[in-house]
Amino acid sequence: MKYLYCLFFAAAAAVVACSSKVEEPETVHESLPDWQEGYMDIHHIATGRGDAILAILPDGTTWLQDAGDCGTDWYKTGQGCAVLPNSSKSVGEWIVEYVKHFTAGTPSAGELDYAWLTHFHGDHIGTPGNAIPGSKGYKLTGITMVGDKVKIHKMVDRAWPDYDIPTEELCKREFYLYTDYKAFTDYQTKINGMEMEKFEVGALNQFKMVHNPSAWPDFSVRNLCGNGYVWTGSGSGYEKMYTENPSLLDENMYSCGVVIQYGKFRYWNCGDIPGCNWPDYASQERTFETPVSEVCGPVTVMKLDHHGTFDTTSEECLKNLQPEAMIALSSHIRQPYKDQVARMIDQTIYPGERELYVTTDCSRNELGDLFSHFKPAGHVVVRVYEGGTKWQMFVLDATTTTYDVIYKSDIRTL
Ligand SMILES: [Zn+2]
Repeated sequence: MKYLYCLFFAAAAAVVACSSKVEEPETVHESLPDWQEGYMDIHHIATGRGDAILAILPDGTTWLQDAGDCGTDWYKTGQGCAVLPNSSKSVGEWIVEYVKHFTAGTPSAGELDYAWLTHFHGDHIGTPGNAIPGSKGYKLTGITMVGDKVKIHKMVDRAWPDYDIPTEELCKREFYLYTDYKAFTDYQTKINGMEMEKFEVGALNQFKMVHNPSAWPDFSVRNLCGNGYVWTGSGSGYEKMYTENPSLLDENMYSCGVVIQYGKFRYWNCGDIPGCNWPDYASQERTFETPVSEVCGPVTVMKLDHHGTFDTTSEECLKNLQPEAMIALSSHIRQPYKDQVARMIDQTIYPGERELYVTTDCSRNELGDLFSHFKPAGHVVVRVYEGGTKWQMFVLDATTTTYDVIYKSDIRTL
């Protein structure tokens, strides 16, 4: 890209040199226009090593969903992605830098009003094997790194306080960061006043704006699913999505998910919930995407479930959601997977235009020609304008720390 800019400017300089007119210098780097009150920005941070989604709500409330660091295992075997923008810092430290940069100028500058975890896998919370030693009784990786450097006012996860959903043994089975995470939350609640809450399936506005909510009454967050339960569609009721022995369920099935609504704009994010059975997994009831998408209904933007991996983005789910834009958070060469991408662009599943976004280009080779359906890879930002009547997509360069805009869509009216 830079090479092309150089060519462009060499040519532009030649034109200027031959012309008597004095031209204003062109601006090479365009930044994301600053957040303003009334905007809702949802940043899908491209780290190459897991999920981290920063939302700045219409009154400036800050909200971080997941702060993953899946470590180097995939990368060492040629299946993972490099750390973005580079490996001079840990993934958690890059998330901290991003949060500080984009919350500056908001009423919650440099702080997180909420941080929450969809589930307990390393690519969503951090991995002890790759953690940096800390001085407060817990190692620093993913969410523990972020919470060590950025004040978190309230932390929400699926199993606080007893971590026994569905049982203690099953809850901790794939929760490798448990010991450090528990030490982290104990320290932060005692010393820094961090509040803890359990994610409540079916709740409306467990995540409520903290600065000026009455100014933006058309905003809400509905908790759609979590711990194998789904919202019933009325009140704050919920019901179980499985009948089998809980020991067969995997951690992805316990993922928590929400739909954020702002005016007519709707955004789906359900962590890693699966959409079909898969031989690698024991459960025979993994079609959770179907009931959750049924109760949610159509959305504007969908964060792909489980990074668009083999067992997600089912036909039923796409039919129910009909997203106009889909975003894959990619840390693996098969995130998203080709069958899923083929389905995402299939006009027979649901008609109409849709755009595809991805945080890294790791899957370029595996996807082949299908990769051309994606916009340039990077930090994917959804911006919803005042009152939720208009929205726009931006992609920011994830290979540098200047966050230059490398793609922006037209502004769409809802
Ligand atoms: Zn994941």
